[in-house]
Amino acid sequence: MLAVVPAPVTVRVPSKVNLHLAVGDLRPDGYHDLATVFQALSLTDEVTVAVADEPGVEVHGEGADSVPTGASNLAWRAVQELARHVGRDADEPKVRIVIRKGIPVSGGMAGGSADAAATLVGLASLWRLDIGRDELAKVAARLGSDVPFVLHGGTALGTGRGERLVPVLTRHTYHWVLAFDRRGLSTPKVYGELDRLRADGDPPRIGDVEPVLEALATGDPRKLALLLGNDLQAASVSLRPGLRRTLRAGVTAGALAGTVSGSGPTCAFLCEDAEAALRVAAELSGAGVCRTVRVAHGPVPGARITPTEERP
Ligand code: ATP
Repeated sequence: MLAVVPAPVTVRVPSKVNLHLAVGDLRPDGYHDLATVFQALSLTDEVTVAVADEPGVEVHGEGADSVPTGASNLAWRAVQELARHVGRDADEPKVRIVIRKGIPVSGGMAGGSADAAATLVGLASLWRLDIGRDELAKVAARLGSDVPFVLHGGTALGTGRGERLVPVLTRHTYHWVLAFDRRGLSTPKVYGELDRLRADGDPPRIGDVEPVLEALATGDPRKLALLLGNDLQAASVSLRPGLRRTLRAGVTAGALAGTVSGSGPTCAFLCEDAEAALRVAAELSGAGVCRTVRVAHGPVPGARITPTEERP
């Protein structure tokens, strides 16, 4: 009798922006405690998982050339981690992963984490696993601190290394313009630069998270704009001084406020509404301060199987 090969599964997964990113001092284990508010954005990657005799990873799209296709690809690590978790062969999983990137690589928008989260959701379906989102989130946390958030999506408060999540209720769709830089920034380097800046004389730290949560509850983007804050911004700007010009250009173009997203170098500009975002994007595109400009909105859901694949 012929074995039935399950159909490939495609998952769409959001990027993230940090509305608030407070970074604690360097811990003895080399990590930093974080208090962050994540928002999932409509700028997405798509990941297809399929049973295949030739296992491996293929990457297409935005920044594909700088993404590893071997065992260090976070999506492949997700295959191995989930295989181990459910007692399948983790050394030779017969799975092929095709990643279509829309999220900039090393851009501070959790692109690799997104592909790992998408792979977990895709494989759970492909392998017909009886595994709930909570259990999947535990596997996700082992792969990286941003992976649980892009699995869940929405808006959430993250503590610990960012992996302990509490959903935040929001009453509004926020409209963003994203400015991609010409090259990425390494997250560990940005944290290292922050430690160096702090050793040289403590740069100002962002305020408490509560006002951000209150602003989100009102749904007023102007209130939120006043409170966007990121302790890593000084470090990203120190490594990439041109970002100062990009941040100024977005506000000059009409954004309510701009922030470096996570460890950067992508700059995220909060706009009044969808129309304003299109105007800001058009003006920023012509300003010569970045490689590419995109509009996006949030919050959006986390990693989800795309509708065509959901049909029986
Ligand atoms: P974060 O915002 O979570 O700090 P990031 O968005 O700045 O991360 P990523 O795009 O996740 O950065 O890439 C970080 C590094 O991981 C790069 O060196 C990249 O080559 C590597 N990498 C491994 N797997 C992937 C993947 N599937 N997609 C993108 N980068 C990957």
